[in-house]
Amino acid sequence: MATRADIPLGTLQPVALSTLLAQGSHRFRGVYAHVPFCRHKCHYCDFYSFVDAEDRRQAYVDRAIAEIDAWAEVVQAPLETLFVGGGTPTMLRPGQLSACLAHLRGRLPWADGHEWTVEANPETVDPEIARALVEAGVTRVSMGAQSFQPRLLKALERHHDPASVGRAVDALRHAGLRQVNLDLIYAIPGGTLDEWRDDLRQAIALAPDHVSCYGLMYEANTPLGQRHARGQVQGAPEELEVAMHEAACETLAAAGFEHYEISNWALPGRRCRHNELYWRNEDWLTVGPAASGHASGLRWRNVPRLGDWLGQGPWSPVQDVERLDEDGQVGEAFMMGLRLLEGMPLERVQSLLRQGRRGVARQLAIAAHMESGLLEAAGDRLRHTPRGRLLASQVAMDLL
Ligand code: SF4
Repeated sequence: MATRADIPLGTLQPVALSTLLAQGSHRFRGVYAHVPFCRHKCHYCDFYSFVDAEDRRQAYVDRAIAEIDAWAEVVQAPLETLFVGGGTPTMLRPGQLSACLAHLRGRLPWADGHEWTVEANPETVDPEIARALVEAGVTRVSMGAQSFQPRLLKALERHHDPASVGRAVDALRHAGLRQVNLDLIYAIPGGTLDEWRDDLRQAIALAPDHVSCYGLMYEANTPLGQRHARGQVQGAPEELEVAMHEAACETLAAAGFEHYEISNWALPGRRCRHNELYWRNEDWLTVGPAASGHASGLRWRNVPRLGDWLGQGPWSPVQDVERLDEDGQVGEAFMMGLRLLEGMPLERVQSLLRQGRRGVARQLAIAAHMESGLLEAAGDRLRHTPRGRLLASQVAMDLL
């Protein structure tokens, strides 16, 4: 799918990202910054994050500031979104987080009305950090609530008290935060449909602007994934997972949320603009170890090793560098575009089918999925049917 001929190979070695970027045109619209620290490593999580001694957090901040300075020499047009994810960004002390955010504001150009999101875990949000976030210009906090059932949080090895979610939301609202997202996980081993409905009810009662609901994934490189592979943990039956997704659709719609992406619901005007940028295949830049970026078909990942990232700079050493060829870009445009419930304009579908090597195969795959009821033409758009949303990865594989 990807050709790497024009990219320096041996991408596990440090590569100057600025050299790669000089090979193409791009228009960065967003920034993804990765903070890798967590209080505890949840056993289902495959994000690059770890429990670390506090002394490396200041080194992280100093290094991130140098990386932002490097990007300031490259970025011309105003940026529209920032997403600080992790890990748990709110593991940084308020002053450290404020210093990073102030540097992002001062050194990079920002469009009017930009969206700034920071991820947080409920047990790390207190009035002091809530104030620091709002004063730094954060417009949105995405909180990992996951479940309100103590026994299911235990099954996930999440150590927070369910009541801490409400306390954190209160602190953020009191500080003047405009938007809150709550992340929830369903299909947790042993979880029932009634418990999931209760999770949805409790989340809605906290008046979030946005809710993300993800079915639990068993990633091969996680302790939970390995126990699942050995048969020591049973996943939820498929019918239950389907019923839980349908319950989310019904309950959140009844509460006024628009279902706009397979796993995401928002009140009117409250979509996550940063994630929309991913689904529309736009360009974004990166700060921090393990952060993945994209610029006009060029993809890379900053090295996922804090020591290596701290030891070099100002550009991060990168790995997993690839430049998608035309066919790869077409496949990715279908995979990402169909995640949005509004689907893709038929005109764009036709145009994509004329590009790349696999136009005929993709046309046949679309016809087959329409025939089997996973895709449909709705007005002038191609989109998933409700059943197709649950099997979106199967459709995506056929169109990649
Ligand atoms: S808190 Fe989030 S990022 Fe950290 S280990 Fe748990 S799931 Fe992963």
